[in-house]
Amino acid sequence: MTSSFFPPQRTLMGPGPSDVSPRVLGALSRPTIGHLDPLFVQLMDEIKVLLQYAFQTGNALTLPISAPGSAGMEACFVNLVSPGDTVIVCQNGVFGGRMRENVERCGATAVMVEDNWGEPVSVDKVAAAFAEHPQAKTLAFVHAETSTGVRSDAQALCALAREHGALSIVDAVTSLGGIPLKVDEWGADAVYSGTQKCLSCVPGISPITFSPRAVERIQQRQHKVQSWFLDMQLVMGYWGGDSKRAYHHTAPVNDLYALHESLVMLQEEGLENAFARHLRNHQALVAGLEAMGLSMAVAAAHRLPQLNAVNIPAGVDDAAVRSALLSDFDLEIGAGLGALAGKTWRIGLMGYASNERNVLSCLTALEAVLA
Ligand code: PLP
Repeated sequence: MTSSFFPPQRTLMGPGPSDVSPRVLGALSRPTIGHLDPLFVQLMDEIKVLLQYAFQTGNALTLPISAPGSAGMEACFVNLVSPGDTVIVCQNGVFGGRMRENVERCGATAVMVEDNWGEPVSVDKVAAAFAEHPQAKTLAFVHAETSTGVRSDAQALCALAREHGALSIVDAVTSLGGIPLKVDEWGADAVYSGTQKCLSCVPGISPITFSPRAVERIQQRQHKVQSWFLDMQLVMGYWGGDSKRAYHHTAPVNDLYALHESLVMLQEEGLENAFARHLRNHQALVAGLEAMGLSMAVAAAHRLPQLNAVNIPAGVDDAAVRSALLSDFDLEIGAGLGALAGKTWRIGLMGYASNERNVLSCLTALEAVLA
């Protein structure tokens, strides 16, 4: 007989998922009701308003996709990109590469703007790409590159897209709730995120928002969206504004209770306070790491407070350290990815996990393991 699964109580300080707040776990275990129950529909409306707050937008088309961040990414591309389009895609880490895959699978051409891993997207290079490819209708980039711990200038990149009459697709999987993300003020057109990072919710949901310009492009599409599940015109029949909600798919009811709770918590704390907390704990962690003789992999001006990339000292066995942290301290930190594999550790301080206790226990555990 296979027995029930009881996971250990880990502290999740990697690139995500991050620790889920007990309040959110409590919400998850409330009784399941029907996905068309009037009370559930009311909850859906509240989630939309709470997401508008988190994204700092008045966009009517703001909702959670019932699937992880990668599905939010795919929803943006399949709805906004048509065969034959040219899309400028910025890559300075893993996730720009995934965007390219999406563009090519839509039958469009990806013009790549590449920057070194560990550095932000170069706004000048993107401007040059627009000059060379004036037919480009879309610009796609990652705001907070989880693979490297780098923040790019989303405001400048969105402005550049608008200047060239293009729409912007912004990956905010790691930024939402951790650093400022002003969708309306910056003029971002399609922005997707994930629940498992700074929202401290369970993984598997992707909040998404589309500007009126993006909605217009969706409405004017000549080609059917190749994904039935992610076709926003169909999803809107269930999540849309009018009172008639048509069945599209069975919503992950309890996961949406969890998302609602995490967004209520964000609203209670206030976005600005949440950003300040992430910054304060990041600064404390960096001070502690540097006092131990460790160094950060990203220049101070471009660091993400919620994802700290640390250079692995010469001669230290990366995997052995991470495995000792997990087995001896129940502490998860992340390995480097791709070009940074074996070179960096990624220490997350995301959402609920961004607290003083975690900063101190991580420093203590790391010091003990490295001794
Ligand atoms: N984009 C970024 C920046 C991410 O960090 C991630 C996940 O870590 C994703 C996209 C994909 O999200 P998911 O793993 O939830 O599909």
